[in-house]
Amino acid sequence: MVRVVVAGGGLAGVSVCRDLRARGFEGELVLLDREAGPPYDRPPLSKQLLRGAAEPADVVLPDGERLGEFGVDHRRGVTVTGLTEHAVLLAGGGEVPFDGAVIATGAAARRVPGQPDIEGVCALRTLDDALALRENLATAGNLVVIGGGFIGLEVAATAVALGITTTVVERDPVPLAPAIGPVAGGWMTELHRARGVRFACGAEVVGFTVDGGRVRGVDLADGEHLPADVVVVGVGAAPVTGWLTGSPVPVADGVVCDSGLRAAPRIYAAGDVARWAHPLFGSIRAEHWTTAVDHARTVATNLVAELETGAGGGKEAAEVPYFWTDQYDVKLQLAGWAGGHDRCEVVEDGRALLYGREDRLVAALAINRPAFVARHRRAIAAGTSWREATEAARR
Ligand code: FAD
Repeated sequence: MVRVVVAGGGLAGVSVCRDLRARGFEGELVLLDREAGPPYDRPPLSKQLLRGAAEPADVVLPDGERLGEFGVDHRRGVTVTGLTEHAVLLAGGGEVPFDGAVIATGAAARRVPGQPDIEGVCALRTLDDALALRENLATAGNLVVIGGGFIGLEVAATAVALGITTTVVERDPVPLAPAIGPVAGGWMTELHRARGVRFACGAEVVGFTVDGGRVRGVDLADGEHLPADVVVVGVGAAPVTGWLTGSPVPVADGVVCDSGLRAAPRIYAAGDVARWAHPLFGSIRAEHWTTAVDHARTVATNLVAELETGAGGGKEAAEVPYFWTDQYDVKLQLAGWAGGHDRCEVVEDGRALLYGREDRLVAALAINRPAFVARHRRAIAAGTSWREATEAARR
């Protein structure tokens, strides 16, 4: 029987299993994941779960509960350590041979230099991370968040609502600017300042103060000391590709794939770990929930076709990326790819932004304006020019 092995049982891996069956794949389907529990969703970890409005059972992926129904051999607590043209290698020495494979090992939280593994220093990527952070916040008086990215700011929003004195340390002059530019980054910073979050921008953490096995604060490069009984390190995530060294797939900040997410013959990648040739935006890697789901459809279509005919399925991963973040009562949404934009314009009474590059609309961002973002996602897919998009938005 033909066998497909999916490495990584997060959103992308589980969605690939579902979509392979939906496209008529009747062979053996093996899903490998190092976590022991059921597959879960990550966005609620920094939102509902952290503030106590959800429990672990609430964040289980609905399709994760249907893996038996899909006829998936779901092996938990299994770490993949290598990949050949025909087999996935496992920690402990075993291997699982395959006819087709999907790499869906996602991303892992980055660390800062000198980060100690002690009580009170927390990351936020896994369910265990979120539960540990929630427990730490329950008795915290002072929180320092290292990194003013989306996850760091979501944590800050939850913490100030809990009455915790919160400082965000950000290396760039404006939080979120690398992702969405200084204008929208400035909007979000002001939102947090108005709720009481303090920012140390253009600042770098150079050391941690430790006492009795617990963090007591951080030291900044300019000599300032910030007291903290909890420190969250939110400096982004790196694709989990270390296990692919020496494998047939190319790796460069992600598994390098063509526009159909194929990395090597019969080997595909999906989700946070995939860097692919987007037909509109070139080589990108998107750590977005929707991208993982979109990728799964493309991978399933192309892998089923390749297993049946020996040729690719011809489907491109061409969906316009989409991302959201929830902070306080604000839902910020972004459609498109703002990286590398060379112009932007504020529209919708200062609640939305359009981004352009070389006279083309490449991204649209808005605060609490879902219809605006959905409309512009379609406009970006249609190849709308910058002039056409801005004139329509000014009307
Ligand atoms: P992952 O979810 O990381 O899954 C990868 C899986 O592979 C994991 O289960 C892991 O255990 C497993 N794995 C890794 N290495 C190995 C190995 N060697 N052996 C076996 N198994 C392995 N996106 C949004 O668009 N909006 C949001 O508001 C938002 N909020 C987020 C909040 C948080 C706290 C986080 C962490 C992410 C958030 N995201 C959000 C991003 C979104 O959740 C990710 O894009 C999505 O989870 C990617 O799914 P994935 O399956 O590619 O990777």
